[in-house]
Amino acid sequence: MPIWNPEYETMPRDQLEKLQAKRLKEVVARLAATSPLYKKRFADAKVTADDINSLDDLSRLPFTEKSDFRDHYPYGMFIVPMDQVVRIHASSGTTGKPTVGGYTRADMDLWAEVMARTVSSAGVTNQDIVHNAYGYGLFTGGLGFHLGADRVGATVIPMSGGLTRRQVMLMEDFGATVLTSTPSYSLVIAEEAADMGIDFKKRMKVRVGIFGAEPWTEKMRHEIQEKLGVEAFDIYGLTEIIGPGVAVECPQHNGMHINEDHFLAEIIDPITGERLGYDQEGELVFTTLTKEAMPVVRYRTRDRTILHADKCACGRTTVRMEKIMGRTDDMLIVRGVNIFPQLIEKTLLSIEDIEPHYQIVIDRPKDQLDTLEVWVEASPRLFQPIDTRRLDELQTRVSTELMQTLGISASVKLMGPKSIARSEGKARRVVDKRDL
Ligand code: AMP
Ligand code: ZN
Repeated sequence: MPIWNPEYETMPRDQLEKLQAKRLKEVVARLAATSPLYKKRFADAKVTADDINSLDDLSRLPFTEKSDFRDHYPYGMFIVPMDQVVRIHASSGTTGKPTVGGYTRADMDLWAEVMARTVSSAGVTNQDIVHNAYGYGLFTGGLGFHLGADRVGATVIPMSGGLTRRQVMLMEDFGATVLTSTPSYSLVIAEEAADMGIDFKKRMKVRVGIFGAEPWTEKMRHEIQEKLGVEAFDIYGLTEIIGPGVAVECPQHNGMHINEDHFLAEIIDPITGERLGYDQEGELVFTTLTKEAMPVVRYRTRDRTILHADKCACGRTTVRMEKIMGRTDDMLIVRGVNIFPQLIEKTLLSIEDIEPHYQIVIDRPKDQLDTLEVWVEASPRLFQPIDTRRLDELQTRVSTELMQTLGISASVKLMGPKSIARSEGKARRVVDKRDL
């Protein structure tokens, strides 16, 4: 599988780290000179660009938080005049004011470069027809993928999300070979095709899927690969850093290679803020090394993962991040017990006749203990005709398994086909009705 930019993607690590250290010093100097926010932060931390001479000096630098974006909404994180900003994007799925990203012409070029590396890593070339079902618009997914697929010379179909039936028809008619979408939406497409009586694997030419923007498990990967007949690649990114293009799997599927010449990654202890080493689980933190409009230093993503720096068989030398294991802030506490939504997903998908469509509903009725409900769809075949005995058995099985993994009881509601609302973007898995 060709590597898009071998010079940087396979650079010997000592050389890469030297380049990172040099770029880190430059970005600190630039921020100190142009950003009132960082000028103050660096002064408070008593650090200047002169102090930054190796990657070990990183821990002297202050963190940046999501709240900084909120406090400086909309353009306060930009360090160039607006006449140099050619694009605005914003984070998806948040209520209230979004997190804003700004790009200069050079940032757009950088984005196309890292996205070209990304799609190439999944084997996409100018021979491919890319059906891009990430949302176009403020969300970085749609236009980010568009840039990368365009840069490698693939034929881009700018579908965006929604109108699923039409997506299925055009995927077939246009002969798409690559599908890009959120993992949850890929399953919606597969399901719609099945409803239309289309044997997806037989009729579609799609061989590769690049899925990200939301957490998904290995179980979900198998489900997608099985239903769509694609090789599924995980991709990671966020608006604060650039959007998609931060990291992606290679054909080894042993973690996502980070574009480290542009995005410097570290893992910290989410409680103490101490830097942790490779192979240790913690919170992922990024410093952008080359961005012009909106560089960030030590941005706390709140995403939990592990970095690995051992050699990868694909030839890339960049570090790999494991699948996101959850967020340092999404842990739910139900009746005093820590619950990770992804553990629920893993449990559900390990049970036969359970579909990958579910919702976790938490409530706190007045003066009562928290209630935890898991709504999940059972296989359509149990409903035609309705097989109450099997459904009852299944419900007991799901409840027992959840009790075993979570340590508290959940009330399980088995639902019929299509009763859980489908999402065209990120699925909304947790509904927390408690006033916490
Ligand atoms: P946004 O800026 O709205 O695109 O959201 C970025 C966030 O989406 C990240 O901080 C992650 O929490 C999540 N995210 C993006 N890609 C992935 C992925 N491949 N796996 C898990 N979570 C992801
Ligand atoms: Zn690799």
